[in-house]
Amino acid sequence: MERTVIYNAHVISPALDLEGATIVIEGKRIKSVDKTAVKSRPTDKTFDAKGNYVMPGFIDVHTHGANTYDFCDPDPKAIFEIAKGKLEEGVTTFLPTTLTVSHEELLTAAENLRKYAKRGMPYAKTPGIHLEGPFINVKCCGAQNPEFVRKPSIKEVKEIAAVFPVKQISYAVETEGGAKFAKDCFSIGVVPSCGHTGAKLADLMPAYKNGLRHMTHFCNQMTPLHHREIGMVGAGFLIEDLNTEVICDKIHLCPDMLKLIFTRRNLAHIQMITDSLRCSHCKDGYAFSMGGLEVKLEGGEARLVKGGNLAGSTLWMGKGLKNVHEVTGIPLKDLVRTTSWNQAIEQGWGKDLGKVQKGYIADLVMLNKKNWKTVGVFVDGERRI
Ligand SMILES: [Zn+2]
Repeated sequence: MERTVIYNAHVISPALDLEGATIVIEGKRIKSVDKTAVKSRPTDKTFDAKGNYVMPGFIDVHTHGANTYDFCDPDPKAIFEIAKGKLEEGVTTFLPTTLTVSHEELLTAAENLRKYAKRGMPYAKTPGIHLEGPFINVKCCGAQNPEFVRKPSIKEVKEIAAVFPVKQISYAVETEGGAKFAKDCFSIGVVPSCGHTGAKLADLMPAYKNGLRHMTHFCNQMTPLHHREIGMVGAGFLIEDLNTEVICDKIHLCPDMLKLIFTRRNLAHIQMITDSLRCSHCKDGYAFSMGGLEVKLEGGEARLVKGGNLAGSTLWMGKGLKNVHEVTGIPLKDLVRTTSWNQAIEQGWGKDLGKVQKGYIADLVMLNKKNWKTVGVFVDGERRI
């Protein structure tokens, strides 16, 4: 079988920090990761990692766009451009995330994703959609359009999933039928997540009893911690096994909050996300309209032209990892599970994705040790960057 051999890698994988390593890939999977010298064969494809980090390819379960495109744009080109952008970040698997829009627009997004799959997913891979809304709390919309908010409907989800699989739904648990909806999601293989929510702790518990274990962008657009009602932020600290998504750009959450989360919560239940918008991978000065409001990118921050409110993220996964590593000092071999393996476990891929280890699929990202820029990306054992 044709082999790919990566020499001189500094492997960072959950519970593993190994310099001077050699990774052997056969077909799609990793055959070995160790420091023993490999006898080369003339048919080998070889790569020198030059001592840079080699980590499990990032899994971003919450991202709306990149390269000026949003997943909800009707243009079928959008998903290709987003997937290309994500791959440049070292994201090998992602869940394209929808906005709170009409049912027809959601069907079009699913149809466009089907076309991307039909073309063999040439950039980052995607197993399915993350529906962020439309079943959210109208008072906690954030950048979502309140006009399209509606009550949870598993019928609507099934119609979308008939076009392309749905893998996650962010919804407000306190809405009518919210607890039962969690159960309905599991029955069709979807991870239910509490988000854009005004829930109190007591509102969460019936959905939790029905299996809900995920929180959408922890701390953002949810009830804050108060000493007489701990809200969803308190719930995230009180309940260990809630898988909390975290936007690690030091803007959506200040460095002290990142420190609080990563040093006080169990790292097995934290998932880094980007929640990136169309303006990610764009240059400063790029302007666009979001729900009729003008947004401009300056200093890497997307803010409303009027008022200056934050309008979304431009974060890259590797930058998020760097930020948390610098803020907390937590070793990379402990932190790295929050960029892919935790996500893989929750989605049911924990034995295939998220580790640089024998038997795992060779989805890998190579990062420059000095500036953390992506210098190589492998998907299914094939070098794509
Ligand atoms: Zn989002």
